[in-house]
Amino acid sequence: MIAVVVVRSGQLPAGAAEAVAECDGRAMLVGTGTVEAAAGLAGVSAEVACAELGDAPLATGGAGVFRPAALAAALAGLLADEPMVVLPASPDGRDLAPRLAALLHRPLWAGAVQVTEARVDLARNGSTELHRVSPGAAFVATLQPGVRGVAVAAGAAAPAIVQVAVNLGDLFEIDAKVTEVLPPDPATIDLAEAERIVGGGAGLDSTERMAQLSRVGLALGASMGATRVVTDRGWAPHARQIGTTGVVIDPDLYLAFGISGAVQHTSGLGNPQHIISVNTDGHCPMMQLADLAITADANATLAELETLLSSGAGS
Ligand SMILES: Cc1cc2nc3c(=O)[nH]c(=O)nc-3n(C[C@H](O)[C@H](O)[C@H](O)COP(=O)(O)OP(=O)(O)OC[C@H]3O[C@@H](n4cnc5c(N)ncnc54)[C@H](O)[C@@H]3O)c2cc1C
Repeated sequence: MIAVVVVRSGQLPAGAAEAVAECDGRAMLVGTGTVEAAAGLAGVSAEVACAELGDAPLATGGAGVFRPAALAAALAGLLADEPMVVLPASPDGRDLAPRLAALLHRPLWAGAVQVTEARVDLARNGSTELHRVSPGAAFVATLQPGVRGVAVAAGAAAPAIVQVAVNLGDLFEIDAKVTEVLPPDPATIDLAEAERIVGGGAGLDSTERMAQLSRVGLALGASMGATRVVTDRGWAPHARQIGTTGVVIDPDLYLAFGISGAVQHTSGLGNPQHIISVNTDGHCPMMQLADLAITADANATLAELETLLSSGAGS
């Protein structure tokens, strides 16, 4: 098996190291800044193939524009002899994987929590079901970030680099044309990309309170996230669940309202620069993690915050 990881500006996406570890360290990085990003795989891979695209493919048509159809067409030839290809289920990985699978005439096993040559486990129906399939001799799979984990030995050396040439030529024409790139809307942005997040937990008293949390979040330029207890209640969509069986986030600021800080939740938090927690239990794990721990009723605090923000006091 080989992991294929799309890299932008030297940054590995969430789940990259896990996909590489799942493939016993065999990896191809493709994108911009691949050699720089490969250093992030120290201890996970001994040798990484880097297909450096330079600025052109991602920059044409606007900074940061990803051209998955062109990339899939260029990579299909290189991967023809690799029967099992695993991508992290990052936004770019999810864009690229189905196109690769179609071009390689293979099934796509999307949203896997474990991939081996003989078996793929797929999380389905909001991770309430585990579907175990025999993947066949050749396939493409995406591995969910945050479910596997990676043990890295301290002081491990950066992997050796093997440069691989990828020729995109005039393949750009096959992707949709980007006419405009809009700034992200906190209400709809993928949580994994959000820089500020307000999280709601079981300490909130109703679905209306979650709606209030969303409004307060928007006023602060933050996206709404939730714990599994809240998504299981149907108070927030599963796509907003933070944690091991939800989305792995990495915001600058995380505000947790009525969240206890169970490990399945906090392991999906990344490394926020600032955590603020509002909880009636001053000793729960979320309060211990917080830079600012406020012992208070989260419902009353949210109501007060909304009043203050709507009166302009928060600006
Ligand atoms: C296999 C597996 C996978 C899981 N995956 C995830 C996952 O991806 N994400 C996830 O979040 N969980 C996940 N869980 C569930 C996880 O173990 C916890 O149950 C969950 O995170 C707890 O959510 P919570 O903090 O909202 O609820 P609770 O743990 O019930 O905590 C509620 C908190 O609210 C506080 N509170 C109560 N009333 C108030 C009030 N009025 N004001 C302020 N605070 C108040 C309480 O003091 C408490 O700290 C998973 C569990 C399993 C077994």
